[in-house]
Amino acid sequence: MTNAADRAPLSNSYDVLIVGAGFAGLYQLYRLRQLGMTALVVEAGDDVGGTWYWNRYPGARCDVTSLEYSYSWSKELENEWEWSELMASQPEIERYAQHVATKFDLRRDIAFNTRVTSAHYDEAANCWRVTTDRGDAVQGRYAVMATGCLSAPMLPNIPGIESYQGVSVQTSLWPRDGVDLAGKRVAIIGTGSSAVQSIPEVAKVAASLTVYQRTPTYTWPANNRPLTEEDQRRVRETYDQLREQERNSIAGIALGLGGALFAPPTAKILELSEDERREALEKHGFSVTRMFADVPTNMEANGVARALYGEMVRRVVRDPETAAALTPSEHPIGCKRAVIDTNYFETFNLPHVSLVDLRKDPIAAITPSGIQTASGSREFDVIIYATGFDAMTGALNRIDIRGRGGEKLTEHWSGGPRNYLGLMVAGFPNLFTITGPGSPSVMSNMMVSIEQHVDWISDSLAYLRDHGIERMEPAIEAEDRWVDHVNNVASGTMYVAESCHSWYLGENVPGKIRQFMPYIGGVGRYRAKCDEIAANGYEGFILEKAAVPAG
Ligand code: FAD
Ligand code: NAP
Repeated sequence: MTNAADRAPLSNSYDVLIVGAGFAGLYQLYRLRQLGMTALVVEAGDDVGGTWYWNRYPGARCDVTSLEYSYSWSKELENEWEWSELMASQPEIERYAQHVATKFDLRRDIAFNTRVTSAHYDEAANCWRVTTDRGDAVQGRYAVMATGCLSAPMLPNIPGIESYQGVSVQTSLWPRDGVDLAGKRVAIIGTGSSAVQSIPEVAKVAASLTVYQRTPTYTWPANNRPLTEEDQRRVRETYDQLREQERNSIAGIALGLGGALFAPPTAKILELSEDERREALEKHGFSVTRMFADVPTNMEANGVARALYGEMVRRVVRDPETAAALTPSEHPIGCKRAVIDTNYFETFNLPHVSLVDLRKDPIAAITPSGIQTASGSREFDVIIYATGFDAMTGALNRIDIRGRGGEKLTEHWSGGPRNYLGLMVAGFPNLFTITGPGSPSVMSNMMVSIEQHVDWISDSLAYLRDHGIERMEPAIEAEDRWVDHVNNVASGTMYVAESCHSWYLGENVPGKIRQFMPYIGGVGRYRAKCDEIAANGYEGFILEKAAVPAG
């Protein structure tokens, strides 16, 4: 199969259907081939890479050291690939995904330009029947949803959005040929990670840039730099130990962003005198607010760090009104995914860059020529929407997934996502989700979590085959217990504080239930739990021989 739009018709039946050709889908396909299973990957895009295929906006790059945000399952790949920077940019990561697909000849089992629209479990035949937007109907004994946690883009529901006559573009659907921003009047809506990375780059070329901000963001300097040969050699020499450390860590990280060995902080900001805090601020700047163990766990400590953060913003941003607007005041540091930037605050000192504080001056409408707020209208040639994703559940819920008895996944999840280990859902036999809600997923270096899930799923499929088992699904009691556990671990933390409104909680999506979706028990502990359950004969799962084998 190629990435040509006019791909060959698909076969009717596979052992496993995989949806998505990002890093999760690619590795899953590789592992299934090793097991001698037939597999088809269905991918909406016209090539591999997932996140790194779709998010081509200026400034897009990794926020984890690339030597760690890379596959660990091929020594040859590990040794031959050279990352040019500490945190690689989108084009380089996309090239890496393409290199993997070519090296392991993965594309021949991927149907590109094809979106899965439905996946229905056929109980009598014990298989998943999948349809696509190109009219395909295929079946697989198993289905693996590698659909991504941040792959369902959100466009805000602002009146008049369709009436705009200029160029409008989403960071998450950025065209491959780019968008001509040179000399243009550009607006950007949003100040999350995608916007924070784009803003300094857009400002370099646009005639003017107006940033529409609803909630100010805590962001920390990336301190990105080119990687030296010495860096690469040092990491290669210790790669095996580093990977092992990642797998047993809290967040899938062994190296810090500087590329040096990372140890979770132990010092406490509340134990420092006022003078010592100031000294630390002078020495570490913004980073001072991330280097103490009590900041994420103790609200008083968090308050101290927030005050220091505000001081740093005022030091960098010259206009006091802009500095005040850019300073987060409501939510705790760390309750949202950390944002990493290069010259974000500095960009607001440029004469052609301005900020509209939507808390004081909300957007009323998008007009044919620009954006209208309470205070008046501004005209733009380009509007960039950096407005985020329906995270974790969005890509799954956009597919009509039905399990036993025709139950819809959206019904099963009407009170918030429920599953066992973040991997399988009661009533949806033989369907696996990679980095789904209820797993460490977005709280980690995703590459580590993706590999752990793919390995666990692949080992499970081998176990089922070797034991003549044809149907696997969680017992509802096991699902209930896991959901309670996920909620209990999060309860009382700043992630669920009333003042925190994050996509982790689904709060950016109108009508979505407020529920903290990822599992914050830590990557290492979670892995141990999954392994223990498998070692105990898949405790909590119902394993059975199907009455009728798959046709
Ligand atoms: P994805 O890469 O999202 O791939 C899913 C694929 O499934 C997509 O190609 C999509 O087209 C396809 N798909 C979805 N639904 C369907 C359907 N119905 N039919 C057919 N195809 C479908 N994580 C980190 O750990 N570190 C980072 O620095 C980092 N940076 C990020 C930067 C951005 C801009 C974004 C958006 C996310 C970032 N992430 C980061 C998270 C990132 O999503 C993961 O690291 C990882 O790339 C996810 O891989 P995946 O294969 O699970 O999903
Ligand atoms: P995001 O963090 O959800 O940010 C979306 C932004 O749009 C927020 O500032 C939000 O404001 C704003 N917004 C949404 N609807 C709006 C509306 N109607 N009016 C005004 N503003 C609106 O999305 P993202 O920036 O794409 O990042 C999502 C996640 O992807 C990140 O947290 C991260 O995990 C990953 N990512 C990582 C990197 C990286 O550094 N490697 C880069 C990009 C993305 P509110 O906050 O007020 O809702």
